[in-house]
Amino acid sequence: MFNYMQSSQSRGAGVDPARTCLFLDVDGTLLDLVKAPEQVRVPAALVSDLGQLTQRLGGALALVSGRSVAQLDELFQPLRLPASGVHGLELRLAGQPLRRRVCTPDALHRIRSEAERLIVGQHGLQLEFKPSAVALHYRGRPEAEDELRARMRALAARHAEQFSLIDGDKVLELVPQGCSKAAAIDELMAVDPFRGRRPCYLGDDTTDFGAFEAVRRYEGVDVAVGNRVTARWHLSGPAAVRQWLAQLAAGESRLP
Ligand SMILES: [Mg+2]
Repeated sequence: MFNYMQSSQSRGAGVDPARTCLFLDVDGTLLDLVKAPEQVRVPAALVSDLGQLTQRLGGALALVSGRSVAQLDELFQPLRLPASGVHGLELRLAGQPLRRRVCTPDALHRIRSEAERLIVGQHGLQLEFKPSAVALHYRGRPEAEDELRARMRALAARHAEQFSLIDGDKVLELVPQGCSKAAAIDELMAVDPFRGRRPCYLGDDTTDFGAFEAVRRYEGVDVAVGNRVTARWHLSGPAAVRQWLAQLAAGESRLP
């Protein structure tokens, strides 16, 4: 299932459910990529496997996504998994209310209207307003990538005190300063039931690099999904991820 990418003392190591926590990116990792974020499909078997696996890990499983926690709840209902949303901007632990880093409403309003002006009259683009963040999806117009990146970089630079740009897979996202998936991993690892466990993070694009680095700091397992990124472990794509999770949920305890 896993291809081991380099030799290491953990070859053949297993997943001890009492001492492992799982952090899962969503789009491109758990779910197949689609042209627009709202077209995404969640297999029923995945939802049931995630529910079972969460129990097996004593609750130590969290989604770590660029989507908002509200969207994640909708996608994975009836589960309400521990989740970090919008690249670490939101955090919701089991049975607790959502916490959100905030930027000033004025700054958010300004950056939203500048982003709207930036795409006026351009087809194939989708601007998504998230709480405290703005995402520009260009999967429908990949040829415009370089120009859009330059424009969004300039926009971020004009608001550098409050915002930074996250360059994802066919998405450019303005988020409040300090938000990242790496910061999300640090926050999760500081609290129960994640604290003290060995983290395993699965992700598929450049926005996941920080999280890979973070789990390595905790002597964890970094797993690249697909071909866009590399890590010490690798799975071929979301279907392979779902298959591995199903095996873990069914009681297997195997890392690569
Ligand atoms: Mg992803």
